[in-house]
Amino acid sequence: MDSTTATAELGWTIFPSQGWEEVSGYDENMNTIRTYQVCNVFDSSQNNWVRTKYIRRRGAQRIHVQMKFSVRDCSSIPNVPGSCKETFNLYYYESDSDIATKSSPPWMENPWVKVDTIAADESFSQVDLGGRIMKINSEVRSFGPVSRNGFYLAFQDYGACMSLIAVRVFYRKCPLVIQNGAVFPETLSGAESTSLVAARGVCVPNGEEVDVPIKLYCNGDGEWMVPIGRCMCKAGYEALENGTVCKACMSGFFKAAQGDHKCLQCPINSRTTNEGATNCVCRNGYYRTDSDPPQMPCTTVPSAPQNVISIVNETSLRLEWSPPQEGGGREDVVYNIICKSCGSGRGGCTRCGDNVQFVPRQLGLTDTRVHISDLLAHTQYTFEIQAVNGVSDQSPYSPQYTSVNITTNQAAPSAVSIIHQVSRTPNSITLSWSQPDQPNGVILDYELQYYEKWNSSLTRSQTNTVVIRGLKSGTIYVFQVRARTVAGFGRFSGKMYFQTMTEGVVFIIAITVVIIRLLFLLSLFTEVSPGMKIYIDPFTYEDPNEAVREFAKEIDIACVKIEQVIGAGEFGEVCSGNLRQPGKREILVAIKTLKAGYTERQRRDFLSEASIMGQFDHPNIIHLEGVVTKSSPVMIITEFMENGSLDSFLRQNDGQFTVIQLVGMLRGIAAGMKYLCDMNYVHRDLAARNILVNSNLVCKVSDFGLSRFLEDDTSDPTYTSGGKIPIRWTAPEAIQYRKFTSSSDCWSYGIVMWEVMSYGERPYWDMSNQDVINAIEQDYRLPPPMDCPSALHQLMLDCWQKDRNNRPKFSQIVSTLDKMIRNPNSLKAMTPLSSRYDVSLMVLCNG
Ligand code: AMP
Repeated sequence: MDSTTATAELGWTIFPSQGWEEVSGYDENMNTIRTYQVCNVFDSSQNNWVRTKYIRRRGAQRIHVQMKFSVRDCSSIPNVPGSCKETFNLYYYESDSDIATKSSPPWMENPWVKVDTIAADESFSQVDLGGRIMKINSEVRSFGPVSRNGFYLAFQDYGACMSLIAVRVFYRKCPLVIQNGAVFPETLSGAESTSLVAARGVCVPNGEEVDVPIKLYCNGDGEWMVPIGRCMCKAGYEALENGTVCKACMSGFFKAAQGDHKCLQCPINSRTTNEGATNCVCRNGYYRTDSDPPQMPCTTVPSAPQNVISIVNETSLRLEWSPPQEGGGREDVVYNIICKSCGSGRGGCTRCGDNVQFVPRQLGLTDTRVHISDLLAHTQYTFEIQAVNGVSDQSPYSPQYTSVNITTNQAAPSAVSIIHQVSRTPNSITLSWSQPDQPNGVILDYELQYYEKWNSSLTRSQTNTVVIRGLKSGTIYVFQVRARTVAGFGRFSGKMYFQTMTEGVVFIIAITVVIIRLLFLLSLFTEVSPGMKIYIDPFTYEDPNEAVREFAKEIDIACVKIEQVIGAGEFGEVCSGNLRQPGKREILVAIKTLKAGYTERQRRDFLSEASIMGQFDHPNIIHLEGVVTKSSPVMIITEFMENGSLDSFLRQNDGQFTVIQLVGMLRGIAAGMKYLCDMNYVHRDLAARNILVNSNLVCKVSDFGLSRFLEDDTSDPTYTSGGKIPIRWTAPEAIQYRKFTSSSDCWSYGIVMWEVMSYGERPYWDMSNQDVINAIEQDYRLPPPMDCPSALHQLMLDCWQKDRNNRPKFSQIVSTLDKMIRNPNSLKAMTPLSSRYDVSLMVLCNG
């Protein structure tokens, strides 16, 4: 509201009528203005009000009033009474509509709200008739918060001589503004002069807020202040016109990310498909890797390597080449070697096997050379040298390569790396070794050279085992071995030193258990047929740890998860768990642990079982997964057998199986024993407690610990004192003079048959060990268990022949059981009931 803009009378309401008076006048620019005047200074008790018209609030919270007025100086008026004033009061009254009348609201403070008493800064004392020297005061007052739709203002005079020249009513606001990339709407100032009113900005089109919500604050003076956050043009758009506009990049230009930077021209070999591009796409045949920055030119695949040189050396090859002429615009060219062997004579080439060695590697070579070895002798090969770079994978075409054809030379076998001493006597040594790593052909035979001092001798062997006889006792011999193929002899192995036994020592040791092992091994090796794989006693190794390394795989403890304890082993707890090896599926395993505080000897004995088991590979022999020796506790990890040991399994399932099922179990055990026998391994403790059963009822021979035969431990009643022999399961000759053979294992097998057919009954029931020995000596034998077919009992009796040479071989047992399974009728016949369960009536076997 501005009184100076009024073209007609203001028509404000006056009370009382002889108070304020509307008067037309001129302002300093000689424009007509409407004023209110009063000058009743000679009458005391003045109370003159003038009220404006209704003024709409229009959302404002604080109202400002500017008043221009002049006041006559009381002292300049002659004879003026003391009641003369030089001030007036400003009031306001809020109302939702224009309801005021001549008498309402009443002319008094409350309901009117007083804003202030206004005093003149300057008063005038002389009235100029033209009004030009009039001294005009200007005062501004404000009030708030106001909340109704509108209000009236009133000016109260109480005895001044004054003129109210102009009244202007206004509020303050911050204008619409574009600042920091955002548009802020017009915002009215707050209710107090110190208030700050927050306004949320809206990013200009195609702009995006960075981090925090963008804000500005409008202060009481209608000024924006405290900017928070900002907007930036998004990817594909750049800021123009002082940041007030985000404009799309022109075609051929791109902007990859939000920000203040400008659109960039597309790099080489790329283009845009439309305006506002965030990246430029590669032209056909050009590519980018995920890690290539968008401003980098698009690149292509390299051309083929050049100038390949090949140098063949027997079965090895060195390849060298120059980098491709065209790197595709990239620095990350590497090389792959593809090996194809073309020697089979049928025309085509096939990829080389895994055994070919590449140094430093076959794929991803950064240098332009490679050394290839372990190729087959006298064979034609093609090598393709591919050049690939970071974008080769994206090209639909295979990498460009240069190929080279070579033919390897005839080559002799590589050297035998190590010779083991298997056993020794005063005048012989049994040695064994593994085949050379690179035979380079079929090995025809081996030549063993040995000498003591200067007398050298040669011997030939078609297998990798040899017994050298006629040596001097207690003498150190030097041995070297080399393999021969059609290409001739390979290099000799390094020299190995072995000593024959001293006669006297043999005699003394003969009383010890060690000789048992030695004799047993000797008998074992004299029977070896050439070319057959045989079992090697880990205790013949100078360092038994080496046997563990050779026959048992080391497993990282991180692959093993122990679940629960399932039994007690001789050396510590037996647990079940899981084994998850890299690249293999997770399997259930049994984990035998070596309890803490073990001696070095206990550790060796414990691990000997793994060295033995690790040499076997048969479905009826418990399978070794590996050992954990590099961390504590030391562990032996085998396949898991869900049904545990056979004796307790049968006892828990008494009478539950058909005869055919029982014979199936026996057949499995016999097959495992045949395998052990073929390997020249004598078990010596075959018993149902040492057979494990899996969830498919497959029986597997286990318990290969050697230690129990070496030590004296009488705590286990299964074994006798003085050498630990399981009397009830052991053949008489093994008990009497420790003649342990596969034939004594056969006797034990007969006992296992009896245990199986009687569902885990204890052989010879509660008889003492000595009574058993005596009964056997008098040709008594166990009777058939209940419901045992005669054919099976007959097989048991065959196994219990006094003369071990008359006992069946395991191969015969397997085929006899197979026949029974094929012809179940043969299992129908039973031995009469009267002859069972009475020890005194045990069947006389050899009688
Ligand atoms: P051992 O030390 O071999 O006699 O094992 C002691 C006990 O652990 C056996 O009687 C079985 O009950 C149990 N056990 C051993 N090995 C396994 C296995 N591979 N699977 C399941 N249980 C086993």
